[in-house]
Amino acid sequence: MLIEPKTRGFICTTAHPVGCEINVRRQVSYVKEHPKVAGPKKVLVIGASAGYGLASRIEAAFGCGAATIGVIFDKPASGKRTATAGWYNTAAFEKCAAEEGIYAKTVNGDAFSREVKDEVIGLIKTDLGQVDMVVYSLAAPRRAMADGTVYSSVLKTTGAPYTNKTIDLKSRQVEEVTIEPASDEEIAHTVKVMGGEDWMDWMDALHDAGVLAEKAVTVAYSYIGPELTHPMYYDGSIGAAKQHLYETARRITEKFDGVQGYVSVNKALVTQSSAAIPIVPLYITVLYRIMKKAGTHEGCIEQMERLFREKLFGGGPVLDERGLIRMDDLEMKEEIQSQVAAEWEQVESSTVEELCDIDGYWEDFYQMFGFRLPGVDYAADVDPDVPIPSIG
Ligand code: NAD
Repeated sequence: MLIEPKTRGFICTTAHPVGCEINVRRQVSYVKEHPKVAGPKKVLVIGASAGYGLASRIEAAFGCGAATIGVIFDKPASGKRTATAGWYNTAAFEKCAAEEGIYAKTVNGDAFSREVKDEVIGLIKTDLGQVDMVVYSLAAPRRAMADGTVYSSVLKTTGAPYTNKTIDLKSRQVEEVTIEPASDEEIAHTVKVMGGEDWMDWMDALHDAGVLAEKAVTVAYSYIGPELTHPMYYDGSIGAAKQHLYETARRITEKFDGVQGYVSVNKALVTQSSAAIPIVPLYITVLYRIMKKAGTHEGCIEQMERLFREKLFGGGPVLDERGLIRMDDLEMKEEIQSQVAAEWEQVESSTVEELCDIDGYWEDFYQMFGFRLPGVDYAADVDPDVPIPSIG
């Protein structure tokens, strides 16, 4: 069938298998152009089908030569519906790994559940024995507990309402938006979903089953950003969850002898999750233009390649005074942020084309779903039914 992008709000409900494969292959090639990293050899990636988790898995496999097990939550094609982009990405990843004889298997299911944890542990026992790295890269809107309770995360400010500019990326209009503060309950639920509780559950489960290597490293991802995004992010409901994540990294390091828990603060990038946060997409379009002009713009794979090579496994972790890994170092450079602040003041509907990289935003957005990639014949008939080799 012919597959075209169909967007609804912040998401695209279709995905293109050939485009997704090209996207993955591009990331694999990028990693292979860089020196090999003396890093982990058996890696579990939780949230492995898109964004930072997929890039981590690619770097682990092709940069370190590691066997990987990925946990994803994606849907195969059915009837006239295409599979999700994460499904096609994972199919492509496993194909690339097989071509080089690198072990890769995937578990598709809810990472929050005990069943998926047990399935992964079973797979590690049979195939790998132990894992020496765990990447925790979930970005989830909700979390279902074993007793049936469902917690939802919200992207709101805290304290008082917050007003600032935002952009409607479709109409390219800049408008003011007021974000109401999250209630205490909403904050607590966001921490439940996006904080470190489930990360710790995974580490406990792996440790108790004897499948966590003695000197294993584990990393989860966060964002801090400049002050103008703080009310929505750092000081917002998601920021409260991230504080819990930092605390969890410390507790993991204390709890499991020899195991090191880290949080890497990554760059703001267009992913399915970041598109949903008010104000942040306008910041991203201003930032993209400035960083591209400065020649310092990076995507997920550039970030993860540098994380593994420079900051995690290049002779010991490089941490800031709070014990965090700062992959947002280039984004937060004074010369970049002073320009962002100056242009933020000037940005309005009549100046967006000049000050914002909206085309770059849309390019990243569509490419996440396998569209608008050079070299793909989108007029060609394509079979949407692509198996993930280890799942079928
Ligand atoms: P993403 O949406 O691209 O990827 C999230 C992954 O989690 C996907 O593979 C998805 O399938 C998986 N997932 C979601 N719910 C799941 C579930 N219940 N079970 C199993 N898998 C599930 O998101 P991303 O932007 O790569 O975010 C990953 C992490 O990086 C998050 O912690 C996020 O806060 C952080 N981060 C993102 C940015 C950014 O700008 N995008 C910046 C810094 C840090």
